[in-house]
Amino acid sequence: MISDPTTDFPAFGSAQSNGAADYPGLDDWRSKPISQQPSWEDPAEFEAAVAELSSAPPLVFAGEVDQLRTQLAAAARGEAFLLQGGDCAETFAGATANKISAKVKTILQMAVVLTYGASLPVVKMGRMAGQYAKPRSSDTETRDGVTLPSFRGEIVNGFDFTPESRRHDPQRMVQAYNTSAATLNLVRAFTQGGFADLRSVHAWNQGFMKNPAYSRYEEMAGQIDRAVRFMDAAGVDFGALRRTDFFTAHEALLLDYERALTRIDSRSGLPYSTSGHFLWIGERTRDLDGAHVDFLSKVRNPIGVKLGPTTRPEDALALIDKLDPEREPGRLTFITRMGADTIRDHLPVVVEAVRDSGAQPLWVTDPMHGNTVTAANGYKTRRFDDVMNEVQGFFEVHRAAGTYPGGMHVEMTGDDVAECLGGSDPIDESAFADRYETLVDPRLNHQQSLEMAFLVTEALSH
Ligand code: PEP
Ligand code: MN
Repeated sequence: MISDPTTDFPAFGSAQSNGAADYPGLDDWRSKPISQQPSWEDPAEFEAAVAELSSAPPLVFAGEVDQLRTQLAAAARGEAFLLQGGDCAETFAGATANKISAKVKTILQMAVVLTYGASLPVVKMGRMAGQYAKPRSSDTETRDGVTLPSFRGEIVNGFDFTPESRRHDPQRMVQAYNTSAATLNLVRAFTQGGFADLRSVHAWNQGFMKNPAYSRYEEMAGQIDRAVRFMDAAGVDFGALRRTDFFTAHEALLLDYERALTRIDSRSGLPYSTSGHFLWIGERTRDLDGAHVDFLSKVRNPIGVKLGPTTRPEDALALIDKLDPEREPGRLTFITRMGADTIRDHLPVVVEAVRDSGAQPLWVTDPMHGNTVTAANGYKTRRFDDVMNEVQGFFEVHRAAGTYPGGMHVEMTGDDVAECLGGSDPIDESAFADRYETLVDPRLNHQQSLEMAFLVTEALSH
């Protein structure tokens, strides 16, 4: 037998077969109700794009996905904390070295604050290298009497309000794959090549010290530095501190894309979507009998489901039965996004019903999507205080139920944008005109993200 060199390297656990996977049930979703999909016009263009993706190399590997599942299982038991962060919608133009490194650095900084402050291992994950498809509340958008298809994320169409740009173009799926590959390549280099070395905690602080979050971070970095120097002097081997695991996640909205990137793992013979490590189902597509839940029930990746304020306990229990019938640790994550005003009323019954069923999904808070408001000057925004209020409510509900608040999911960037209101160096509406960059939902900027990490650390330590 020819030996498989990849089996000696657990992070890349297995060789995967080339070409679109064939596996019983993988196409059942095609006969289910499906929402939020593009209407590709030209079948030949569509077939060509799917054929190209079907023979493309995997972006992530089965062994990595399995390691992530193990780490998420620890978070579900309260032994680790999941940090998911990144853009609402990635853009092709945004895949620059500077923007990617700023985002990775910010997530690493937030993780250091949480790890050091709460003495918990942090599972680091970007809404990155694949977050290109967006669900929309309307199929069309009208401006000045002109109606065009809505922007559905750059994997489907362009943001510019012209008929050419808004056309649903299947070739964009290939561009999304290529841009994801380039992004992931840089993320792997940053996190495996020494940039994530814990001895560089100071170097990640790109901010101005006058901001309270930055100076607080600098102080913590100083303490970590001293601890590291002490251990260094005492002869501890620091090889492991040079690298860190960093996983990718996106909403698995565009099933043509996910299906084309699904491969069979040669070790287990089971299907994995190789488009990203962690895939989630959005609030708008979590219909129990719909295509999204069906397709994701068939792949081995850890799966998240967003749960909004209308979620009933029986909905959560049915999702568990469908997506995690074996109750496999780390398989299923519920990402709750209830809204700051309603989380304390709506979340307890859901959490209690799941707890009483004996299931132990990972519970994560998304404090962004239930707290979107329109500012007086028309911009879509979120108030930092509402976001933190929802996080606080999430901790309170889980403390009361005796379950684990196991992670958070945030829309953030490493750049100094002005999209969310508030923070300790407050952003107000007048800053939007110059520094509002997002194409879809508003993100926390670098200092708001760091400030959030400090506040969550306090909640975690109580
Ligand atoms: C999102 O995460 O950008 C999103 C659309 O969320 P939700 O499905 O929770 O509305
Ligand atoms: Mn969003």
